[in-house]
Amino acid sequence: MGDFTLELNEDQKALRDWIHGFAADVMRPAAAEWDEREETPWPVIQEAAKIGLYSMDFYAQAFFDPTGLGIPVAMEELFWGDAGIGLSIVGTTLAAVGVLANGTEEQIGTWVPQMFGTADDVKVAAFCSSEPDAGSDVSAMRTRAVYDEAKDEWVLNGTKTWATNGGIANVHVVVAVVDPALGSRGQASFVIPPATKGLSQGQKFKKHGIRASHTAEVVLEDVTIPGSCLLGGKEKLDDRLARAREKQKAGGERSKNAAMATFEASRPAVGAQAVGIARAAYEVALEYAKTRVQFGRPIIDNQGIAFALADMRTRIDAARLLVWRASWMAAAGRPFTAAEGSMSKLYAGETAKWVTASAMQILGGNGYTREYPVERMHRDSAIYTIFEGTSEIQRLVIARTISGLPIR
Ligand SMILES: Cc1cc2nc3c(=O)[nH]c(=O)nc-3n(C[C@H](O)[C@H](O)[C@H](O)COP(=O)(O)OP(=O)(O)OC[C@H]3O[C@@H](n4cnc5c(N)ncnc54)[C@H](O)[C@@H]3O)c2cc1C
Repeated sequence: MGDFTLELNEDQKALRDWIHGFAADVMRPAAAEWDEREETPWPVIQEAAKIGLYSMDFYAQAFFDPTGLGIPVAMEELFWGDAGIGLSIVGTTLAAVGVLANGTEEQIGTWVPQMFGTADDVKVAAFCSSEPDAGSDVSAMRTRAVYDEAKDEWVLNGTKTWATNGGIANVHVVVAVVDPALGSRGQASFVIPPATKGLSQGQKFKKHGIRASHTAEVVLEDVTIPGSCLLGGKEKLDDRLARAREKQKAGGERSKNAAMATFEASRPAVGAQAVGIARAAYEVALEYAKTRVQFGRPIIDNQGIAFALADMRTRIDAARLLVWRASWMAAAGRPFTAAEGSMSKLYAGETAKWVTASAMQILGGNGYTREYPVERMHRDSAIYTIFEGTSEIQRLVIARTISGLPIR
């Protein structure tokens, strides 16, 4: 017998059960209210902070699970609880990952704690990359960062959009163009410290789903920050830009870039969120189908309903397996030779949308009302084929990876 197993170990089971308890007892009872209010559920984030679930330590612990399953297991349970609140709780990590991936030890130590705040005074953070004219196509980004060597300061100008926690964050991480001639290789990430002048919230979006999560434009007008806010530092940036210029001269790079590899590693976590939503809707539909009686028998006695539930369960389990595989590959440092991270996000996102729609159908009229949660779950699921790379972009990445074509 080899040591291959798909069984969670004791630590992973304990993590799952702990988060499940919070999701069932704290998140679910609050879900409908915050969806209606369309506001950040600060009291729930605070509850999560009190038990250590909203903290840098928690993510570090889950992230360093050597099997890679800590994060996907945690995400599935949180989003089983509620996706809107779940995103409010994990939105900060997008920005934290931006600092962890690109920042120096000192920058990580300075900024990441300020992103979470404390249990008594919780804070959130925002990661701002997307712009009105640069969504899927990040190379079209216009927000500009200009360096003032005499003052060792950067000045940022531009408009970011769709930023989760944008404008309400304590710390914003902003991606900006430092050398327009280099396209996406001429970009760098900056930390905008709390209360920096010139950063303001633009429009707050009224959304179809995940309404408890705040999404807004972030306007940057002569935002002036010290040189130390450039993630990774100036020397590293200069080296990177010099290499990019060399490559450009030599006719451009045709292989996958480092950013692509980072996306492959982070996408399964987003896929796991979608699995959580799908599982929640499936459970409601299964229970309903067993108890709802029409024509003198529970509706699950009709093959049309039973087979739908069989397909829902099969797709959810398949999605989870893809997510676990990609998470394991990331932790084991395996190369994503078929864009397995993108595969997991693509399949899980599409599954969540399909499963939640099927659940609504099984609940009939009740499924269409806000008396039952599947209508909200369906609205929430729809973002999973759009953000963190749309389904089309995932397919594009998979197609180009398996065919050996360059990924732009
Ligand atoms: C609720 C929410 C939260 C978000 N949070 C954040 C955040 O915190 N930070 C952040 O930076 N961004 C965030 N985003 C932005 C998100 O990542 C983008 O919306 C997403 O990348 C798509 O960009 P777009 O909306 O401009 O669509 P577009 O890129 O304009 O795409 C429109 C359509 O065209 C398709 N398409 C585009 N290019 C191609 C192609 N080459 N081949 C085939 N089809 C193509 C797309 O798949 C899509 O169907 C968020 C978005 C939402 C809605």
